[in-house]
Amino acid sequence: MSAVLPSSASLYDRVRRVIPPIEWPLFVEDIDAIQELKRQRNAVILAHNYQTPEIFHCVADIVGDSLALARKAMTVDAEIIVLAGVHFMAETAKLLNPDKTVLIPDLGAGCSLAESITAEDVRLMRQRYPSVPVVTYVNTSAAVKAESDICCTSGNALAVVKSLGAPRVIMLPDEYLAKNIAAQTKVEIIAWKGRCEVHERFTAADIRELREAHPGISVLAHPECPPEVVAEADFAGSTAAMSDYVARHRPARVVLMTECSMSDNVAVEHPEVDFVRPCNLCPHMKRITLANIRTALEENRHVVTIDPHVAERARWAVERMLFV
Ligand code: SF4
Repeated sequence: MSAVLPSSASLYDRVRRVIPPIEWPLFVEDIDAIQELKRQRNAVILAHNYQTPEIFHCVADIVGDSLALARKAMTVDAEIIVLAGVHFMAETAKLLNPDKTVLIPDLGAGCSLAESITAEDVRLMRQRYPSVPVVTYVNTSAAVKAESDICCTSGNALAVVKSLGAPRVIMLPDEYLAKNIAAQTKVEIIAWKGRCEVHERFTAADIRELREAHPGISVLAHPECPPEVVAEADFAGSTAAMSDYVARHRPARVVLMTECSMSDNVAVEHPEVDFVRPCNLCPHMKRITLANIRTALEENRHVVTIDPHVAERARWAVERMLFV
């Protein structure tokens, strides 16, 4: 007996490696409804690499890491953007599209990094280190971005730091990203104490165990992981860089030290690669579902708003990053 409905068979073909046939009927009605709502409302869905495959591969129009979503958000030709990701990403999309309606399906989709720092914290850091430029990771609120000289993502952090031409920079709020960048430059990096609750849980011992259990495995780590994890990995880079690495090198077996859905989404494109998955789930990313994306489009919620005075300064920091 096949649980796959004929109308959705071609879409299912794409994700059959990561969604069991028994689960697919649970998604079909919402997928069809979302596709119709997008047409009716002139809406697009931007989905982060950590979204589940039924969102990432079946309803999203634009996918990628934070940097790609920020760049592509500027080119969106639609009245409504639904951000399938976390709140700071929706704010970034709104900063770059002030005239469009930006919706986030669940207002509780936060981020431990974004919550680790406030605008007041940044002002205090500036007082403590006068004239030292402030580089702020995009995983922050618009209010924090507004206090910054420039933003960065894990994909461009090193280039952003170098672009400033300063001997010292303040890099907020991810302690591990700051340390991993510091290992690649002579620029002195002053870090904050924020951590990603997903990536901080990986350890160097995890990697050694994986190598023992799977000889020859390629280990790819996200730069939000602790420095000792990055040091033991074969490659470290943003989610986009990890995806490119798999496409270029086509390792027989690979592990991505990052959020769980990333492996599923990359595996869809590379059936010949064996993905080992000791991943960690991001509870914030997982608050986004097909059901609440559908409700967001049906009920126009939750609309992302940013104080205009904050937005103007935050936009400047984001746009400055996009031209590095
Ligand atoms: S994976 Fe980490 S950095 Fe990304 S949203 Fe979740 S908590 Fe934030």
